[in-house]
Amino acid sequence: MTGEMTLRDRIVGVDRKVPLLDGSLATYINFDNAASTPPFKVALEAVNSFMEWYSSIHRGAGFKSRLASEVYDSSRAVVADFVGADPSRDSIIFVSGTTDAINRLAFNFAYLLNPGEKVAISGMEHHANDLPWRRYGNPVRVPVSDEGIIDPDDLRTMLEKHKGTIRLFAVTGASNVVGTVVPVHDLAEICHKYGAKILVDAAQLIPHCRVDMRAHDDPGHIDFLAFSAHKMYAPFGSGVLIAPTDLLNRGDPAIWGGGAVATVAEDEVVWLEGPERNEAGSPNVAGVVAMTAAMKEFKSIGYETLQRMEETLTKRFFQYANTRPEITVYGISDPKRVQGRLGVISFNIKNVHHALGAAILSYEGGIGVRNGCFCSHIYILQLLRVPEEERRIFRRQLREGLHSNVPGAIRVSFGLYNTPEELDRLTVVLDSIIEGRYRGAYREDSVEGSYHPMGGPPDFRRYFDSWDFPKVRMQR
Ligand code: PMP
Repeated sequence: MTGEMTLRDRIVGVDRKVPLLDGSLATYINFDNAASTPPFKVALEAVNSFMEWYSSIHRGAGFKSRLASEVYDSSRAVVADFVGADPSRDSIIFVSGTTDAINRLAFNFAYLLNPGEKVAISGMEHHANDLPWRRYGNPVRVPVSDEGIIDPDDLRTMLEKHKGTIRLFAVTGASNVVGTVVPVHDLAEICHKYGAKILVDAAQLIPHCRVDMRAHDDPGHIDFLAFSAHKMYAPFGSGVLIAPTDLLNRGDPAIWGGGAVATVAEDEVVWLEGPERNEAGSPNVAGVVAMTAAMKEFKSIGYETLQRMEETLTKRFFQYANTRPEITVYGISDPKRVQGRLGVISFNIKNVHHALGAAILSYEGGIGVRNGCFCSHIYILQLLRVPEEERRIFRRQLREGLHSNVPGAIRVSFGLYNTPEELDRLTVVLDSIIEGRYRGAYREDSVEGSYHPMGGPPDFRRYFDSWDFPKVRMQR
């Protein structure tokens, strides 16, 4: 890598052109990085070169198998170093992503819970850090303000009220809805004082901010960490769960199968100890290779560079939004308060359904954003102030399979390769929406809840060369 390389040069596919409604082509703008980021070139190159050596791992005796096994096992040290985990006490477990990580942890954590004991979560969790705890942890919810702020006193009050029965606080490191960064070490200190542990869902945090679990004897130590590689420029299906090894060695693992056992008899299973106990099945070695390559790239770029660039874009968006009373931004929207938050911004446009707004941005601007509830239904409904009666109606409608006109917002989220010029293209299209100057006539697909021009969506098969199989519409 040369010093002159721009951030944009490091990413695959940034110059890809997409068709617009008027038949012209425009360079695609991806403002949906909170969902998934495109790959770093180094991640793709690492996977390509590893493919020459790719082979079964752990159970193979051949040269390639042993090489691949060493790559895989050594990657645990790269990950530990990246997030400040302690390999002598923590297990680095490779999983498919944050959802997988938290589901496995919730299963294991259930072994620690005595009857009546529970887990606390915050009021702005992604479903990945909410639903798994409902299966095993009797979760209670610590309130969160509309700015995405958790008042430490609310956490203290919750821990006191439950008199030592809360064993874990599972909290996001940064909101995937309003972009607020959570002071996880301060909250960890509070949890530890009350004998509770803390899990940080770092899915949104790690692509933007340095994560440091800190030493086990540090009061601000993060006990458990989960994140996904596809949000950190390595979309090859891997993720990480980090947890104290002694905890994971207790009870059964969540996933049962080959590679996790020392011995099996008809009436006995002896599980391995350490990470392999929790990695039954053939692991995703290529995904891990991509993730460690991405981690090296983050180190080479430096989080400070990312944060400066992200603050510039966020500030510019807020300056624009402040000139348009038709735009309601959820969470902090003051251009002077962009420090300590991510460039993840949710908003609505007056009198324009979020699904229609997102469709116009796509069809007329070539801009990819996300709309809806961002897998955080509870927090979105809080932000939108949806009355209980309306919530009941929507729930009934959704149970019947109709996604028409549901509450939600548009989310713009920046990646490290986005530019001010791209943001300016966004604001031009937003202006056209606000002023009703957009060109297309759109209709809603009531099953999906999305909008398309009258002629329907394009035939995507024309654009992706390897797509030579029939198109299937997903049944809901
Ligand atoms: N937590 C947060 C805060 C997220 O934003 C996401 C992804 N949207 C997840 C968890 C789930 O991550 P994954 O889909 O990679 O499992």
